[in-house]
Order: sequence, then structure tokens, then C-alpha cells
Amino acid sequence: MSKTTFTTHHGMTDLLPGDIEQWQALESLIHETARRYHFQEIRTPVMEQTELIARGVGQLTDIVSKEMFTFDRGEDHYVLRPEGTAPVARAYVQNHLAQRGGTQRLYYIGPFFRAERPQKGRQRQFHQFGAELIGSSSAIADVEIIAFMTAIYRQIGIKNTTLKLNSVGDPASRDAYRKALHDYFRPLADKLSEISRNRLDTNPMRILDSKEDQDQPLKADAPRITDYLSEKSREHFDTVKQLLDRLDIPYETDPFLVRGLDYYTETAFELVSPDLGSQDALGGGGRYDLLIEEVGGPPTPAVGFACGIERLMIASEALGITLAHPTGPDIYFVTRGEEAARWALEKMPELRNSGLVCTMDYAGRSLKAQMKDANRQQARFAVIIGEQELQENMFTLRDMVKSEEYQVKSDDIAGRVQS
Ligand code: AMP
Repeated sequence: MSKTTFTTHHGMTDLLPGDIEQWQALESLIHETARRYHFQEIRTPVMEQTELIARGVGQLTDIVSKEMFTFDRGEDHYVLRPEGTAPVARAYVQNHLAQRGGTQRLYYIGPFFRAERPQKGRQRQFHQFGAELIGSSSAIADVEIIAFMTAIYRQIGIKNTTLKLNSVGDPASRDAYRKALHDYFRPLADKLSEISRNRLDTNPMRILDSKEDQDQPLKADAPRITDYLSEKSREHFDTVKQLLDRLDIPYETDPFLVRGLDYYTETAFELVSPDLGSQDALGGGGRYDLLIEEVGGPPTPAVGFACGIERLMIASEALGITLAHPTGPDIYFVTRGEEAARWALEKMPELRNSGLVCTMDYAGRSLKAQMKDANRQQARFAVIIGEQELQENMFTLRDMVKSEEYQVKSDDIAGRVQS
């Protein structure tokens, strides 16, 4: 009779011991960096009302048509969150975080879901860390967000990245620019890729995002947003650049780095890596002064970033960077007989309380099999326990690395291992 087997959904993977140590080390580094930048963690549910995402990103935009995982329960429509900013904005409004005063500096780490076609660096369940600085329109806030993001990569040693920078201006700058783009691309419509042609009337700025080969030469001569910025937007952009220079954070301006969504304003940035192939963005972000109002809050300026963890892992692997090695136990108790096993079980809490990592055989295996297991698990020491050892309170402590053995009393095990 054949057994039914079960697998993960396409584009979703299990994270297993051996790899998970990298993730844990990265998460610790993110938490520690956030602590130093004085950002506080926020955890929102993985499900949101579809309306929040659909309106937050604009009804007609790609992220909605780029299938999301949506489902209905009764009258309610839900979506597995495809990104973190709209949920944080929702939480900010729902929990009246504005009333706590000052700016809110929030960060998150967690899973996100997009029903895209899986490929390298693009999964259906992926993970992001990100931060949102809510309540400041200052260029200092933009630079603080960029500094926080780049600090993570710098500490890991991912140094061959490029920070691309642009400004999408304020709504008035953008309206003028959109019109200019439309006027420029309209006569070229026949030459555009189908996907870009479809965007011509709805969202011509998104044409600049196109990765289609046939669009590239047409994009090259397109008008640039920087020529359409209002004076205030230009000043903001100039200040961001000056502050980045002062912080020694290198960047390249990229006039075609745009965000098609209406709630984005002013600064836009992206961190790219040459080690990622076609999906080359490690992360990105920018200012979104209009979002909080769009999801029902008071007008509130904000800026943030989001970075993909899987892509960070791909980049660090390409550079030969290991964030953490799996570690074996300090002590493996090798036991002969039931009484010895019980003794080990009782002894371990005391050793663990003193900070030692302890394990034992849980399957009643032969001494030889237990020693082999201790080796496989890379235990530093094995303690061998049988009836005689228990009677005499004298145990063999084997240093698995040096292949040396010592005779120790029960109370001396911890001291010997820690010496
Ligand atoms: P976005 O919210 O699209 O700006 O994405 C921010 C970052 O999340 C990207 O730069 C990627 O590093 C990562 N990311 C986005 N979508 C995916 C995905 N489907 N699979 C893996 N990583 C992703």
C-alpha cells in the first residue's frame, strides 16, 4: 500500500538545523542593531484585511494583480500579508501610537507571502526585516533609516553592495512628471513591451521599473523625475545626499528608481548586490508621507525600509560569509543501563543551570552507538556512566577533541568541563 506523502507549497521551504543557525545569528544581529538605533520591535498578524493591502497599494497596481494569497471567511476578505509597511501603518492607527508622542521607531522581522512564480531569490513565503520611522518629515529621518539598513550589511561583511538613491518628489512634482512620461512614451507605445504598454495610461512611472529588454533603449531617453522636482522636494533630496556624504554612506543616484504607488513621496532607495542574479535587490525603501492618512490615520510623515532575508543569505553565501556554526553539546552522557540513564537525566539540569549544554542517549543504544552519536553531534566531552561508576562516584570524562580521559567525581564534572 502506498503511503500519502505531504510537501510544502511551491515556493515555500522548511528551515532546518544546519541552516537555521545562520538565521538565528542574523536575527540576533538585527535585534542588537535595532536596540542601538533605538527602534522597538512590532509584531503584527500574518493576515490582514484584503482592503488594507488593496487600498494601501492602490487598487490598480501590480502588487494586487500579482496574485496574493487571499481567502474569504463569510463576508470578510483576508490576505496573507505581502509586505510590512501597510500592516505597521494599520497598527499605528488602530493602536493610537501617535498618542505616545514623538516619533515611533518600529522594526519587524517575519514571514511574508506573495503568489509569484518562484525562482532564485523569489519565493512565495519569504522573510523580511524592516523598519519604519513614523512622525518625522526631516531628511535626518531618511538618513537614519538608510544608516540602520546599511549597518546590518556592513556588520555582516556584505560590502560589495550599491545603494541606489532617487527622489519621487511630492504629489505635485509627480503629477507633472507622470504627464511628461506619458507624453514621451505615448508615441512609442507600439515599441513598448506588452506589460509596459498596459501601464502607459494607468501608471507610466512603473514603465521605468521594467526589466524587459525591448523597453531598455526607450527608457534611456525618458524624462527624469529630478527635472520635475518642486523646490522643496529638491532641497529635501539635496539634504539627504549631503547627510549621507557626512555619514560616509556611499550611494549612486538613479533617476529611474521610482515607486509607482501614490503614497510614496520624496526619497526612494534600493540596496542592490551583484551576487543575486536577476533579482538583485537586497532591500529598499523610502518615504511614504501619504500612507498613514490613506489607511485612516491623521496626516503623518514616515519613512522605512524592507529587506529580504533569503537574499541576504544568498549574498553572504556567495561571499563565503558564515554567520554562525552549529555547535555541539558540551557534555554527552553515555549511559549503560536504566539506572545510569536516570542518573544522567537528574544530573543534567544542574549542569545546564551552570550554562553547560548537555544531552544524552534517549534510545537505550549500545555504548558503541552512543560514542558514535556523541562524535557525530560534535560533543566536547562524553561522560561514561555504568553501575560501577555510580557505586564509586567516579566517572570517566572523555575529552572528545584531545582523545584524553580523566576520572572525576560527580560534583567535579562541571568544573573540569569549564576549566
Ligand atoms: P519589496 O517589498 O518588494 O520592496 O521587497 C523588499 C525586499 O524583500 C526585496 O528587496 C527582496 O529582498 C525581498 N523580497 C521581495 N519579494 C520577495 C520574494 N518573493 N522572495 C524573496 N524575497 C523577496
